[in-house]
Amino acid sequence: MKSIAIFGSTGSIGINTLAVIKLHPSRYRVETLVAHSQIDVLWAQIAEFSPRKVGVADPQSAAVLRARIKSEISDKTRHPEVVDDPVALAALAADHAVDCVVAAIVGVAGLASTWAAVRAGKQVLLANKESLVAAGQLMMSAAIASGAMILPIDSEHNAIFQCLPTGIPAPQAVQKLILTASGGPFRTLPLDQFDGITPQDACRHPNWVMGRKISVDSATMMNKGLEVIEAAWLFAMPPTRIDVVVHPESVIHSMVQFVDGSVLAQLGRPDMRTPIAHALAWPERIDSGVAPLDLCAVTGLHFEAPDLQRFPCLRLAFDAIEQGGIAPLVINAANEIAVAAFLDHRLRFKQIPHVIEATLDAALAGTGTVAPESIEEVLVKDAWARQRAQSILVGIAAQTLTKVPTMEHRA
Ligand code: NDP
Ligand code: MG
Repeated sequence: MKSIAIFGSTGSIGINTLAVIKLHPSRYRVETLVAHSQIDVLWAQIAEFSPRKVGVADPQSAAVLRARIKSEISDKTRHPEVVDDPVALAALAADHAVDCVVAAIVGVAGLASTWAAVRAGKQVLLANKESLVAAGQLMMSAAIASGAMILPIDSEHNAIFQCLPTGIPAPQAVQKLILTASGGPFRTLPLDQFDGITPQDACRHPNWVMGRKISVDSATMMNKGLEVIEAAWLFAMPPTRIDVVVHPESVIHSMVQFVDGSVLAQLGRPDMRTPIAHALAWPERIDSGVAPLDLCAVTGLHFEAPDLQRFPCLRLAFDAIEQGGIAPLVINAANEIAVAAFLDHRLRFKQIPHVIEATLDAALAGTGTVAPESIEEVLVKDAWARQRAQSILVGIAAQTLTKVPTMEHRA
């Protein structure tokens, strides 16, 4: 029986992971659940899966959970241990009782636990792409040193992993990795309507149901930029050999082009339970609960090049890849700040790339091209970029005289 720790259990990936685990009670045991503050969702998960340890990053929420456990579970032997200290919380990923860590916290908030899991040599099911964007070099070197196996959950990377005969590309056999992108909700929206985009519009993805941050990243296509960086590290592939192609139907989740002209693709419904089940069971296969793909119902498969005018965040990600050093880490941090402000109605959708670009320029004017040599340095640089993005954001928002649009304004 595989013992699982889920970091980010109350989020979209966490909930989908538990849905797959529930189908296979004799294969998987939930040892640990970690969340930030959604205590009601976490409580229901504790009641159903009886983890021995629970991490709650928000200390007030942890106190609420402890009180609830005390008052509602009379049998003390069934009380899970509740951890909220940040160091102890990340260390749950290295716990000897855990075989497999699902890294599904959103943003760089997931870096410490992913790092702990990798260093402890765990099997790491990686959804938290921001960890690799911020600290790819360190993370992959640590995985080699510890023997950790990183299995991608991100659908594109999982698709590529499935298309590669051994999960690792033989450099002489593979010509290109081809990441597909849906193009998000604004692929065809007239550019003069971008001013009125609300968080609700941006989170309404045409094909996938996801958390709010990654939904906005998909709408700006920053998500695809982050995924190019993620793929470069995961598959040790130079970014120049990673292409992005817009495929609005989201039937093909990514492809590998080989030197002999063959292109292998992985197809499926746009449902994260498929890559999650693949990674959980690898190298075996298990039922994911996802209905089979009905090929006769697929009306067409279309492909187009991404429009970098429409999606400046993708262009910025390509710039950051080219710059190297701390540039990927900086665009990731600035993006997290800008997206949070947009979701909070403090910044317009169209201003997200402005914040990222100005933060990247500031970093490159300093020591931006030098890569961080330790996780501590990554965290220091990440904090610097966040602070810088925050002050740039305040300046940009102050220049905007009209209020940031809300649903009410549009109505
Ligand atoms: P959600 O916003 O739905 O969930 C985020 C999870 O992280 C929640 O459980 C949340 O807890 C927890 N969390 C947030 N901040 C902290 C913190 N400081 N400490 C501990 N836990 C925290 O995100 P998604 O599930 O959509 O995405 C998670 C990751 O997976 C992201 O990196 C995303 O890019 C990646 N991914 C997601 C896909 C998807 O389909 N959703 C597809 C591919 C990749 P709480 O609920 O208590 O706030
Ligand atoms: Mg993806």
